[in-house]
Amino acid sequence: MSAKHTNQTEPRPPQRNVGFVSLGCPKATVDSEHILTQLRAEGYAISPSYDEADLVVINTCGFIEDAIEESLEAIDEALHQNGKVIVTGCLGAKGDIVKQNFPNVLAVTGPHATRDVMAAIHEHLPPRHDPFIDLVPPQGIRLTPRHYAYLKISEGCNHRCSFCIIPELRGDLVSRPVDQVLGEAERLVEAGVNELLVISQDTSAYGVDLKYKTAFWNGRPVKTRMTELCTALASLGVWVRLHYVYPYPHVDEIIPLMADGMILPYLDIPFQHASARMLRAMKRPAASENTLQRINAWRDICPELTLRSTFIVGFPGETEADFEELLDFLDQAQLDRVGCFPYSAVDGAKANELPNPVDEDTKQERLQRFMEKQAVISAERLKRKIGTTQKVLVDANGDSGAIARSSADAPEIDGLVYIEQPNRLQPGDFVNVHIDATDEHDMWGRIIARS
Ligand code: SF4
Repeated sequence: MSAKHTNQTEPRPPQRNVGFVSLGCPKATVDSEHILTQLRAEGYAISPSYDEADLVVINTCGFIEDAIEESLEAIDEALHQNGKVIVTGCLGAKGDIVKQNFPNVLAVTGPHATRDVMAAIHEHLPPRHDPFIDLVPPQGIRLTPRHYAYLKISEGCNHRCSFCIIPELRGDLVSRPVDQVLGEAERLVEAGVNELLVISQDTSAYGVDLKYKTAFWNGRPVKTRMTELCTALASLGVWVRLHYVYPYPHVDEIIPLMADGMILPYLDIPFQHASARMLRAMKRPAASENTLQRINAWRDICPELTLRSTFIVGFPGETEADFEELLDFLDQAQLDRVGCFPYSAVDGAKANELPNPVDEDTKQERLQRFMEKQAVISAERLKRKIGTTQKVLVDANGDSGAIARSSADAPEIDGLVYIEQPNRLQPGDFVNVHIDATDEHDMWGRIIARS
């Protein structure tokens, strides 16, 4: 193999060395093994001496006085000889004893806390990506194009919508710690991502299971909560788009961020219906909120806000009056992007037991009336953009011109912006476009300036 192919000139990144002191009982030893295994799996070396270590982890014991004393002595020694110390184990669970004695330790956790210890290590000694040994790139393996990526912030759901079995399949909401989410977002941006698509089952509930716990990201405290997450993501300087948000009052907090251009003025809110009776039968989150009032208030603050939603027609028990209430809602809400599905039973869903199913013909007829009405609304709303300048993100380029998306267009589900003129744009480029024409879904425009 030639030197060129072996990359002999590319320097290998320096290894990260972690010193480890394991005290206490066999349960503590197992905790130590888990942490050491994770450290090795992530490419850290275990250092035999304080001098060679970049930081030291001490797994403490807090069972009896002697053990506490031994643990405190070990922390003291590591602080003197190395200076960067993370404390875990039973002594860490005993109130503030460690912090009171040693305010300089970097982090303190209780026992069985491999994830928290690793998060602290990542913060103070970030892992180095080594192209020679890592099987995956630092941003992970992605199935999306290089310039946009999905950022999953939680798994599962605390709601129990009667047509849905996701909570049975995936359990209650489990939010990812905010420092992990932000670390992943940062790596994605470093890898060339220009648009982050925040996804979950319920983005507005983010952090509720963690009691909005504060974590540290780049030395800054950040709460595990939607508003704080959005503010931190905005600092990465790329497009941030929110999916699966419910119209709870606290969502009001993120609208000013949109108005200020920090995150995209775009909300994907699956309303599913507008009749209060149907929303109760569906057991929808935020069913009692005055959605129209909330939408109007949001648009007062951020007039360029794009609202996308999905609806179900023909849910069991839906009457003609319920359906007309839904059509009235469409007239008043003037949503930008809308999907609609005829209700179909999902195995195991509670809604299957509801009385008065709607027959298939009626479902199809309502679907058609719904789509006809919304097509007019969507076309009218898009038409207002003719003559405006839109910043767009290029998805593809070819002989017939470039295909891009504006802030109003999420990939795969919304419209496109066609730029039918010769250009040298690359996927992932931002460019300003003058909009010349629109239809129900898409826009056509001319480049006016690279941005
Ligand atoms: S909010 Fe409702 S529809 Fe969405 S995942 Fe949770 S239970 Fe399912």
